[in-house]
Amino acid sequence: MKCIEVLGYSNLDQKTEKVTCRFCLAEDTQLIKNQKDFFICNNCYCVFNQNFQNEKKTLLRTSVIPHKKSHVDFFKKTISMRFWDLVSLQYIKYLSAYTDMKFRTALDVGALYGHLVERLNQLNIDASGIEVDKNNIENGISKKVFHGFFDENYKSEKKYDLICLTQMIYYVENPVDVLENVTTLINDTGLIFISTQNPHSTIIKNHELPVFEKSMNILFSKKNFEDIASKLNLKIQNYTTFRPNIYNNRLKDSSKRSELMNYFKYHIKPVYEMDPNGHHLFLFLSK
Ligand SMILES: [Zn+2]
Repeated sequence: MKCIEVLGYSNLDQKTEKVTCRFCLAEDTQLIKNQKDFFICNNCYCVFNQNFQNEKKTLLRTSVIPHKKSHVDFFKKTISMRFWDLVSLQYIKYLSAYTDMKFRTALDVGALYGHLVERLNQLNIDASGIEVDKNNIENGISKKVFHGFFDENYKSEKKYDLICLTQMIYYVENPVDVLENVTTLINDTGLIFISTQNPHSTIIKNHELPVFEKSMNILFSKKNFEDIASKLNLKIQNYTTFRPNIYNNRLKDSSKRSELMNYFKYHIKPVYEMDPNGHHLFLFLSK
């Protein structure tokens, strides 16, 4: 009898156990609809994975998969390359709108196929990139993307006028330490450009689109960025949320037919549009 009571109590205890926010440690958190690991914090508004991962780092050891050339591959590659180039052009548009673009040196972290590096190089900026997956470098378009993993231990002799953290800050295990490291790698007048996902968007909060990936750890809210900026003596220079039409289309339908339609559609339709409820977020931090 006693045993049953203990068991009963223990089950109840488990049910009421709170998942603590990975940023502010508050217990006022709730599970996101149809998710088992992603929670929203009602205190600091971040969205976090209760099981932090460092999955991207494992790609460091992955060898290059020999690329079989076929018409299908060519078709897929052409569409994919244009997708990433359009995203990079949006980054350039944002950089041009809010800075004087007088960067001599730049580093793109999570450079993927090197589209942003290439676009920065075309503007006579000495830009290079770092990418964890050798396959992306091998299939990429830039000779200035290097293999490596950027985290809080990354060291460089070179200082940069611009460091871009493009859709990667939510994958690292210690994002605040990574940002602290970035501050040591920019010049005094340097800028940190971050593109990430906006946890205030209903697309994320209400899980309206399949945005969650197992390897994501935390999506910082505006309040989180304000706290981080204050902790690291940084200033938020600009904070803008966007509806990334091109991503949303892909999230809604990633079939070949849809990708082909998008290929043509985005010759006319804006790739990104400013939107307070948009699930992409761009910001600048400076010293
Ligand atoms: Zn929190």
